[in-house]
Amino acid sequence: MLLTISTTYQPATDLGFLLYKHPQRAQSFDIGSGKAHVFYPEANEEKCTAAMVLEMDPVKLVRGNENVRHEAWTLEQYVNDRPYVASSFLSVALREVFGTAMGGTCKDRPQLAETAIPLEVHLSAVPCPGDGELIGELFEPLGYEVEVERITLDSEFREWGESSYFAVTLRGEQRLTDMLSHVYVLAPVLDGDKHYWVGDDEVDKLLRHGEGWLEEHPRQETITRRYLKYQRSLAEEALEELGDDEDEAAEVAPSGSEESDEGDDVEERVPLNKQRMDAVEGVLVNSRSRSVLDLGCGEGKLMKRLRRHKQFEKIVGVDVSFRSLERAARKLGLVGWPDFQEARVVLYQGSLLFRDRRLEGFDAAALVEVIEHLDPPKLATLEETVFEHARPRLVVVTTPNREFNTQYENMSAGDMRHRDHRFEWSREEFAGWADRVADENGYKVAYRGIGEKVDGVGTPTQMAVFQRVEEEDNE
Ligand code: SAH
Repeated sequence: MLLTISTTYQPATDLGFLLYKHPQRAQSFDIGSGKAHVFYPEANEEKCTAAMVLEMDPVKLVRGNENVRHEAWTLEQYVNDRPYVASSFLSVALREVFGTAMGGTCKDRPQLAETAIPLEVHLSAVPCPGDGELIGELFEPLGYEVEVERITLDSEFREWGESSYFAVTLRGEQRLTDMLSHVYVLAPVLDGDKHYWVGDDEVDKLLRHGEGWLEEHPRQETITRRYLKYQRSLAEEALEELGDDEDEAAEVAPSGSEESDEGDDVEERVPLNKQRMDAVEGVLVNSRSRSVLDLGCGEGKLMKRLRRHKQFEKIVGVDVSFRSLERAARKLGLVGWPDFQEARVVLYQGSLLFRDRRLEGFDAAALVEVIEHLDPPKLATLEETVFEHARPRLVVVTTPNREFNTQYENMSAGDMRHRDHRFEWSREEFAGWADRVADENGYKVAYRGIGEKVDGVGTPTQMAVFQRVEEEDNE
C-alpha cells in the first residue's frame, strides 16, 4: 500500500516542516502490525512529494487480531488483501507517523499549517463496492477533484477481469491537517472489512477526526455507519452527536439491516425520537420548572437539550445502568465523571425502585420511555418512589402506543418495539394506569400524542403530563 502526498505550494519543500519529516531522510516506523516507511521521491522548490509505504506483516496481522477466527487454520488468514490496500491500518499509520501534522500544529511554519495549500494525494489501492462511485461521493463534497481508476486483477491475464480496487487521486486546496483527517476517516469507510474490533472509542475517534466537516457532509450517515462497521448502537450514538436524531423505531429495523450496504433505510424513518424529545422539552420549559429530574436518563439526550435553557438551574439524571451514565457523562462533557460534576448538571447511579432522598424537592421529573422497561409489580414500586416520595410538581411520562405497532412493516402481531420492553400499552391501558396513579397521589393528568397520527390507532408515542393538585390550588 502506497500513499503519496504532493504539493506545489512554494517553496514546496515546506511540506517537510508540515509533516515533521525531513525530505532528505528515509525513515521507518513500527506500527504494530508492520512498518511504515516514509521518504520523498521528489523534493524541490516547485514540487515536493512525500511517500508512505505500508509494509504489513501478515503473521502479525493475524496474531494481533483477536477477532480472527482461530478454530480452523485457513490460508485466508495469512493471504489476503490487507497488506496491499487502504484500510484502517492506513489510518493507524497516519496517526503514528503524521500525528503532529494531523493535530494541525507546526512549530516551524505555524501559518502554513493554518493555510489551505494545493495538495495532491494518491492512494495506490482503495477497496470500494460497485463502480467506485462512493469514492467521489465521499471526497467531492469536501472540495477534492477525484480521479478513480479501477485496477485490473492481473495485467498479464486480462481475462481474469477487474478487481474491486481502485487507484485514487485527490486534488484540492486543503489544509494538510484536514486532508489527513479526511483520509484517516474515509479509508476505513471505503474498506468493507469487518474483521476488526470496533469499540466505544471509535465513536470518539470518528467525532474528533470528523470535526468541522462530518457534521455537514451529505453522506454523513453512510460514513458513520460504515466507519463503525454497522454496529448500530455506536452509529446511533455518533449520529446523535452529529445532530442527527434517530427514531427509536430503528430498533425494529429489518433483520440483517446492519449488514446492508448503505444502511440508508434508517434515514427514511420519521425522527420520532426527536419529536418525543421536542415534546417533553416543551412541556418542561413551559412549566417554568427550575429543577428537573430525568429518571431513567439513559444517555442523557433530554438532559443535553435542557441544559441549553438557562431556566433550569438543576438538571439531575438518574439511571441504573452505569454504561448509559458513562455515555451520558461523555455527551454532556462532564469531565472527570463520577468525581467531578458540573454545578447545574448531575448524574446519579440509582434505581427508581428504591426511595431515594436525593430525588426529593424537584419541580419536575421526566420518565421518557422508561416505564415499559419495568415488570408490572415493579412499576407499582416506581409509582411510590416518584409520586409518593420524590413528589415533583410536574411529572411527564412517555411510553409507546401499542396500537400504532400495526403501522410498522417489520413488526409482526405481538412484537414489541424493543427486546427489553416488558409491556406496551394501548391508549386505553395507559390512561387507565395514569388516571389511577393521579387519583391515588393527588395529581391531575392530561394526555398528548407524539408523532404522526393515524386514524384508529393514534400516534406512535403517548405522553401523560401529571400536575400535583395542591400546588395548583396554591397558585
Ligand atoms: N430516557 C432515555 C432512556 C430510555 S431507555 C431516553 O429516552 O433516551 C430506559 C432507561 O431506563 C434505560 O437507560 C434503563 O437503564 C433505565 N432504567 C430501567 N430500569 C430502571 C430503574 N429501575 N431505575 C433507573 N433506571 C432504569
